[in-house]
Amino acid sequence: MGVSKGRRSAWDSIQDAATCLLAITLLAAEPAYAQGARHRHRHQGGQQRLLVVTSLPTFAAITRELTGDLAEVEAIARGDEDPHFVQPRPSYAAKVGRADLFVTTGLDLEMWAPTVIDRANNPRVVEGSEGHVVTYPGVKLLEVPEDVSRFGGDVHAFGNPHVHTDPVNAIIIAENILRNLTQVDPDNAETYEANFRDFKDRVMRRLFGDQIVQMLGADAIFQLARNYEFWGFARNQSFQGRPLTDYLGGWLAEATPFRGRRMACYHKSWAYFGARFQIECAVFIEPRPGIPPSPRHLGEVVGTMGDESILVLLAANYFSHSQVEQVASRTNARAVIVPLDVRGAEGVDTYFDLVDLWVSSLSEAFLASD
Ligand SMILES: [Zn+2]
Repeated sequence: MGVSKGRRSAWDSIQDAATCLLAITLLAAEPAYAQGARHRHRHQGGQQRLLVVTSLPTFAAITRELTGDLAEVEAIARGDEDPHFVQPRPSYAAKVGRADLFVTTGLDLEMWAPTVIDRANNPRVVEGSEGHVVTYPGVKLLEVPEDVSRFGGDVHAFGNPHVHTDPVNAIIIAENILRNLTQVDPDNAETYEANFRDFKDRVMRRLFGDQIVQMLGADAIFQLARNYEFWGFARNQSFQGRPLTDYLGGWLAEATPFRGRRMACYHKSWAYFGARFQIECAVFIEPRPGIPPSPRHLGEVVGTMGDESILVLLAANYFSHSQVEQVASRTNARAVIVPLDVRGAEGVDTYFDLVDLWVSSLSEAFLASD
């Protein structure tokens, strides 16, 4: 900035003065929300429950797994809404204004969240506070661009942000929520921790089947799975003369009809699902994430699907159904239109319902197309 070294200038003095002023302002502001007063208004006398507001309904569902009835949990986005493009309404800011905990992905998925937080004027949930949960840390990020500048103009500037499509990541998300939940409400920490262990166990059983979990334990499988080391391990280990893969159950067994297959996808929503279940989105209806397709691009997608015999097109249900069905019918492919989030369709009330629907819909589509 043109300030030369070794010359303690007027600029330095101004900076020092500004730092002092800032410190004084912060000290003066502290009693308003620090010193443990933050949450007392809700818990004194046990009158009001903890209020957790999440950006996405899937995070609300995962939070409920941890809190049970101990908290009121509400989501801002609907489950059948594009999570990138939610219009911030005044009611959202009012909701976040009352929250003890705000849960969001980070990675700029919810580009609208900072506006909601600004308007909410609630120091308990601003970025960096105990009440602000970012769910992606700990997830092995996929599709991280080498150049972080928004040169491509798409909405995945920091890597693929749709982390919840892999059930293993659901556990990491829950772990991130648990950390802040126990800080904000330490009185119930033991219950939250027990509920987390139970959730982890149920996700591992549903994903790998009971037999594998009984043999190895949920924690060991989770460690292997989060580093994508499960398959290598299971193929090389045997039990009673058979490889461990023979004992696989759950979603991974139900996914056999589509393991190793290729499909077309609308948006890059499924990277983590694909990595877990070993299915690839080989072509996308969107030219780049968040950029709607031109007729010419759609023509190219149809061409590629025909050339490569791609028989299934997967799309979240907030995209134009008619457009998805049109592309599918031009290529004799099957359209699989599913919610990306919990509460995005009738009967999808939990994280388990959501993954059940993805796995069963894709299995049916691939079985029918063979
Ligand atoms: Zn996206």
